[in-house]
Amino acid sequence: MLNPEVVKASSEQYETGEGCLSLPGQRKTMRHEWIEVTYRDIKFRKQKNKFSGSTAKIIQHEIDHCNGVLI
Ligand SMILES: [Zn+2]
Repeated sequence: MLNPEVVKASSEQYETGEGCLSLPGQRKTMRHEWIEVTYRDIKFRKQKNKFSGSTAKIIQHEIDHCNGVLI
């Protein structure tokens, strides 16, 4: 997933605990229940998909890193 950008997200958020390879232990954070993301795939083709559950959680975590945010 190259250059991901969240273009839509659920209005509802939930509190969750997350771990990160950059930090010890777990920390609380807020995540959207679902997100719609535009990005380029490995062949640099434009993609747009909706994600929910743990996949949405991980994508939000990694996009935060792209923006310099740690949980
Ligand atoms: Zn992380």
